[in-house]
Amino acid sequence: MARIVMKFGGTSVADISRIRNVARHVKREVDAGHDVAVVVSAMSGKTNELVAWTRDASPMHDAREYDAVVASGEQVTAGLLAIALQNIGVHARSWQGWQIPIKTDNAHGAARIMDIDGSFLIQRFGEGQVAVIAGFQGIGPDNRIATLGRGGSDTSAVAIAAAVKADRCDIYTDVDGVYTTDPRIEPKARRLSKISFEEMLEMASLGAKVLQVRSVELAMVHRVRTFVRSSFDDPDAPGMGDLLNPPGTLICDEEEIVEQQVVTGIAYAKDEAQISLRRVSDRPGVAAGIFGPLAEANINVDMIVQNISEDGKSTDMTFTVPSGDVDKALAVLETIRPTIGYDAVQHDDGMSKVSVIGIGMRSHAGVAATAFKALAEKSINIRAITTSEIKISILIDGPYTELAVRTLHSVYGLDKQ
Ligand code: ADP
Ligand code: ASP
Ligand code: MG
Repeated sequence: MARIVMKFGGTSVADISRIRNVARHVKREVDAGHDVAVVVSAMSGKTNELVAWTRDASPMHDAREYDAVVASGEQVTAGLLAIALQNIGVHARSWQGWQIPIKTDNAHGAARIMDIDGSFLIQRFGEGQVAVIAGFQGIGPDNRIATLGRGGSDTSAVAIAAAVKADRCDIYTDVDGVYTTDPRIEPKARRLSKISFEEMLEMASLGAKVLQVRSVELAMVHRVRTFVRSSFDDPDAPGMGDLLNPPGTLICDEEEIVEQQVVTGIAYAKDEAQISLRRVSDRPGVAAGIFGPLAEANINVDMIVQNISEDGKSTDMTFTVPSGDVDKALAVLETIRPTIGYDAVQHDDGMSKVSVIGIGMRSHAGVAATAFKALAEKSINIRAITTSEIKISILIDGPYTELAVRTLHSVYGLDKQ
């Protein structure tokens, strides 16, 4: 007998017939004698609708009330799944974040889980009950519902798996695993049977939204055996209930991966904006003077490039921010203009960041050069580059995103291996 946490995303619970199908997946594991806890997302599209309503009500709304509204989608699906489970004879009960409780910090709208006492759920296991838990939500120190940021039900599931020391955390979604790139963009993408925590962390941070970044961090820290698998598979097909090797992608330690490729995957993030400050005086403290105030305004600056200005006497500072933050960033830059002293500020929306990821890069030269050459052959202009030990990120014009992803995917042979 094992202990399993099963998480079902928005498309998996999009309507009542899919919720019934999810109930069959859960029943399969219960019938096999396992302790099961389930985490659900809101029905697909529901959270977007709720977010839009809060904006409609007031663009500058209170984050605590935003949370009160957007957390409601998960409450509905938890109740519906509990009903569907009871209907097929499974002893089930729905629970919201505050009832477990899933304790978070006070950052409403993007809260972090601080603590989950597993004993409540372990008691439910003892009673033979399947706990169906509303994902994406917890309770803050102010005693109010807090949500975990978009895609946060993944994080709820992994955190709960860590708290109850589950043998496995299964993230059921609308694809049957983690692919070499987003299969919606590149139909030739291949499913990976395993991917290391480090690579998955990079893939998720660099745009592959199949798992929320924080869920991968938690899985890595707490060594949660996490599988990404499809809820659309027939729940009773052979092998679906395999304890050690269920169908899907295992996120695991590097050591568990025998045949390591140089490049594992390609990720992309649209809606990046590039901002350039022209002719900034070249003296110590300038970078701190620019990026300090941007950070204080909660603007997430990503790539930074500094080069000599045309006049040869000063420097140009170019960096990227999410497109949605451009206006806020420009306002901050205006306030620091008198102290920093720059000549002009330019900005370009609609950029994309395309990234090549692989732990094999640590020991292989020439991976970046291959990318640059392949993009040049397709006449894709590179606007900025950043690299780390296991990834290369390239900023390009948005309309070239799909072409760049497919080009890089094929140049590293990811469609063939
Ligand atoms: P859920 O609602 O189940 O949480 P998401 O929409 O958040 O599902 O995540 C699943 C989606 O992630 C897939 O439909 C796919 O388009 C996208 N995706 C992006 N990159 C990848 C990748 N490398 N592998 C698999 N899916 C990916
Ligand atoms: N329903 C939330 C969202 O759409 C959380 C999730 O699906 O993981 O962001
Ligand atoms: Mg998701």
